[in-house]
Amino acid sequence: MTDDRRSITVLGSTGSVGAKTVTILEERGGAATFNVVALTGGRNIERLAEQAISLKADIAVTAYSECHAELQERLKNETTEVASGSEALAEAAGRPADWTMSAIVGFAGLVPGLRCLERGGAMALANKESLVAAGRLVTSTANRSGAILLPVDSEHSAMFQLLANVKPQEIESLILTASGGPFRHLTTGELAKVTPKQAARHPTWNMGMRISIDSATMFNKALEMIEAHELFETPADSIGVLVHPQSIVHALIGFHDGQMLAHMSSTDMRGAIEYAMNWPNRLPSRLRRLDLAALGKLEFEEPDEVRFPATRLAREVLRIGGFAGAAFNGAKEAALDAFLLGNINFTGMSCAVDEVLNSMAGDGSLCGEALELKEIMEVDRLARIRVEEYISRGLGQD
Ligand code: NDP
Repeated sequence: MTDDRRSITVLGSTGSVGAKTVTILEERGGAATFNVVALTGGRNIERLAEQAISLKADIAVTAYSECHAELQERLKNETTEVASGSEALAEAAGRPADWTMSAIVGFAGLVPGLRCLERGGAMALANKESLVAAGRLVTSTANRSGAILLPVDSEHSAMFQLLANVKPQEIESLILTASGGPFRHLTTGELAKVTPKQAARHPTWNMGMRISIDSATMFNKALEMIEAHELFETPADSIGVLVHPQSIVHALIGFHDGQMLAHMSSTDMRGAIEYAMNWPNRLPSRLRRLDLAALGKLEFEEPDEVRFPATRLAREVLRIGGFAGAAFNGAKEAALDAFLLGNINFTGMSCAVDEVLNSMAGDGSLCGEALELKEIMEVDRLARIRVEEYISRGLGQD
């Protein structure tokens, strides 16, 4: 008997984007509609097991071998295969599936994402870090296998929707909006005192902890500028950012004739996830409708790159090219880890990334074409070490 269910894999299914994806799959009939090939998570074993049972997944993988026994125990009465560790995760990502959600957080999402792209199918990409660190490798891998990359970041999903039926030569600018985070009115002195707990509270979106803090520093927008460059092949000087505190307009395109198109929707990742899941169609959705009259006004302002230097650094990354994206992402992740541990302060994160990027560019470590995974991983590793060295010199804590 043939199985005509759509086959699905969710990488990072226990996270904010991953769990929302699983909820949408459940709403749309779960295992009766979808053949769920693989679900992967990290330490949230209870949620991973619940999802695997609900969706009757073929395999559930935790990235951590120390969590294997708990996952095994929770799934002992199920047909779901259990595995753990990064090799197993990559193997599961490489199992054939029609549609995959790539929603692991950070550089850890790169290898599983590549495995998925190597085998083809459609990949909904939330894991922006893989595009920042290894954009050329990711897009060339997709081109080789014919895999389709569907952006899930809300701004890039918006851009992808706006770009349909637009001639690239007519575009003057791509503008990403940013909420500006919870601290856009604080002085540099006040910013230096911000704690991880305060930084993890996003004013308009409900997201994972790391992306919430990245939003507060504007590093998230910096990553997104590079992501837009890689996804849409837009020249660096045509990519702009506008702070838009209501987060209703997600992206805008400016044309050479002076006209603009904007994309609007409510602040719920459901919109972007469902768009990628249903593409090239649009299906009815529970997405909260916008009430523009109730909103009353939409505000826009220029980002302040003195207090929030991350977007300036993103332009620097695009100017340097080569392995600059890998260094930038690695340094940014290491600086965030240090901030969470209390080893660097809020403003110190961008100072550390700035210094590491410039020192690596200065000594030639970023030259060359970033097309080899091994080389990209080495630059990522070196950037993290340089952040540790920066901190060990007593910097980033004033
Ligand atoms: P979360 O932190 O909520 O979830 C991350 C997922 O990755 C979890 O399943 C987590 O497992 C898993 N994970 C963590 N570390 C590892 C590792 N070393 N190896 C394998 N898996 C791991 O993140 P988000 O859902 O917020 O974000 C996911 C991606 O989507 C990020 O790249 C983010 O930038 C992007 N994104 C997120 C948006 C959002 O609204 N949240 C919006 C746009 C983009 P566990 O929790 O079980 O430990």
